[in-house]
Amino acid sequence: MAIQRNAPPVDVNKRRIINGTEADVIQLYPMRHKFAWEYYNSANSNHWLPTEISMQLDIEQWKSPTALSADEKSAFETVLGFFTTADSIAANNVVMGFYKHVTSPEIRMYLLRQAYEEAIHTHAYQYIVESLGMNEAKIFNMYREVDSIFNKEEFILGFNEGIFDSSFKTGDFEADQKFLENWCVFSLILEGIFFYSSFAVVLGFKRQNKLPGSVEQIEYIMRDESMHLNFGIEIIQGLKKENPELWTPDFQARITDLVVKATKLEYTFAQEVFPKGIFGLNAEGFKNYIEYIADRRLERVGLTKQFGSQNPFPWMSEAIDLSKKKNFFETRVTEYQTGGTLSW
Ligand code: FE
Repeated sequence: MAIQRNAPPVDVNKRRIINGTEADVIQLYPMRHKFAWEYYNSANSNHWLPTEISMQLDIEQWKSPTALSADEKSAFETVLGFFTTADSIAANNVVMGFYKHVTSPEIRMYLLRQAYEEAIHTHAYQYIVESLGMNEAKIFNMYREVDSIFNKEEFILGFNEGIFDSSFKTGDFEADQKFLENWCVFSLILEGIFFYSSFAVVLGFKRQNKLPGSVEQIEYIMRDESMHLNFGIEIIQGLKKENPELWTPDFQARITDLVVKATKLEYTFAQEVFPKGIFGLNAEGFKNYIEYIADRRLERVGLTKQFGSQNPFPWMSEAIDLSKKKNFFETRVTEYQTGGTLSW
């Protein structure tokens, strides 16, 4: 990129999420997308690391022949099998799909933070797998061996094609629409739907006081992910506002259709994780829950809801709201006082 010496100052009103000018990306002010700066600051104040959470009780429960049933262990492994690769896919897309094409420096600031959070999430799964002495090769390779995980991740990865191509550039109608589609798929579907039956499983463990360290790790991940989802919705709304021509009836129908397809993949996954149902969570409940959240995602970006299902797990929404309010620093002080994180 060439810097134009003594060029006129950057006009805040001409700053854009995509297709801004070259000077925009290295000049934080004048700031137009102020919401992104707020997200960046909130994310920093939510900072946490997996190694700060004690896994001692989880280790005891995982080893104990009676603390967890075989179905519970297998459900937990499958959930981890999905999570491990999903967060790597999310990180890659932030860095190689979104970042390069965004011309708002404050949005880029948050994306840098988001990318780091995705790395922390992958670290958390690695830390759980290692702490519990699980078979790493089995868990980290599940996306290639378990159909319901493969189908979800293959669906998502299909949307990297084109965007990751070094010749891909925004700036014409077709490319800009593809870019907007990518953001809809990653925020609404990957972060907004595909994580949620796994979150429900983990909160099911919480309600039984099982695997408390792993549960706590994933509660922090839920808090981060709900910010990623809300940020993604802000971006989709912002792209619509700055480029209203992209939001055609055809495009709206395409996104709605993708959400409907993803919803089916998600409850198929839930049915495989819970062939017999545990913690009172059953396949029918999951189907309704996933449909319920899919409707919410559609409505948030101004699309029509498709299912009209009631929320069968109202405690899920409460738990997610609670984890958002959770004061990590209080927990962390306790952890240091008990020495639980460093002693083993
Ligand atoms: Fe994320």
